[in-house]
Amino acid sequence: MEKVKAELLYEGKAKKMYAVVGRPEEVWVEYKDSLTAFNAQKTGSFAGKGMINAKITSLLYGRLKKAGIPTHLIADVSDTEMICEKLTIIPLEVVTRNRLAGSTAKKLGKDEGTSLEKPLVEFYYKDDALGDPFLSDDQALMMKAVPARADLEILKTKALEINRVLRAEFEKAGLELIDFKLEFGRNAKNEIVLADEVSPDTCRLWDFKTGEKFDKDRFRRDLGKVEESYQAVLHRLKGEQS
Ligand code: ADP
Ligand code: UDP
Repeated sequence: MEKVKAELLYEGKAKKMYAVVGRPEEVWVEYKDSLTAFNAQKTGSFAGKGMINAKITSLLYGRLKKAGIPTHLIADVSDTEMICEKLTIIPLEVVTRNRLAGSTAKKLGKDEGTSLEKPLVEFYYKDDALGDPFLSDDQALMMKAVPARADLEILKTKALEINRVLRAEFEKAGLELIDFKLEFGRNAKNEIVLADEVSPDTCRLWDFKTGEKFDKDRFRRDLGKVEESYQAVLHRLKGEQS
């Protein structure tokens, strides 16, 4: 039977989350055209941005599934919408870094692009009012982001597994995955599942040959060609010329 969109549950900066008629265990996710940075202090948009991020997420979550990594994606319903497993989101942004960039490079006094001997996984507290602060493992436990230290280890292991798959997928597209943010949630069986999205909004992606940026830093730093870069990521992942 065809699924039907029900009431709006939540509107965020990049997506709207709706209920699904008769399916309390599912959520109807709609990607918006808006772009925000610096905790929504900078805003913008372009037509088709929601479609590009929905398609990139769907494509990558399909490839993660093939690699044996479960995600919340159940089915695409349109170019901008997908049905996902409804999860209780763990209030941590799980950031994985293959090279140092952005505020972390600055904070540690390193050049942007400094390579790392092994990937770093970090936790940030998902709280816009606090500006998503960095949390140590002990702080994450103190804030009860997860019940036990073992959960933090599960998140780190999953992030590193996902990093291996995503790095390889982006490499085939001529892009280096510099860093990215993941969100996880728990389903009815209490399993930890990858949620939210993976897109140029949530990853830093640099061209392997030229180092050119293809991600939200183009918007954050007013580098121009934002729309073209997002489109190119989708085309390249699909194996098309960009
Ligand atoms: P934000 O809340 O930061 O503005 P979005 O606009 O992307 O971000 O909103 C999507 C919201 O839905 C986020 O708060 C995210 O944690 C949450 N979310 C993502 N996937 C799921 C899911 N499968 N079940 C429930 N909530 C989810
Ligand atoms: N990121 C994200 N959402 C956030 C914070 C970070 O998607 O709320 C992504 C960001 O796009 C980058 C990675 O996580 O790919 C690491 O971001 P970093 O902590 O370096 O953020 P900066 O302060 O430099 O923007």
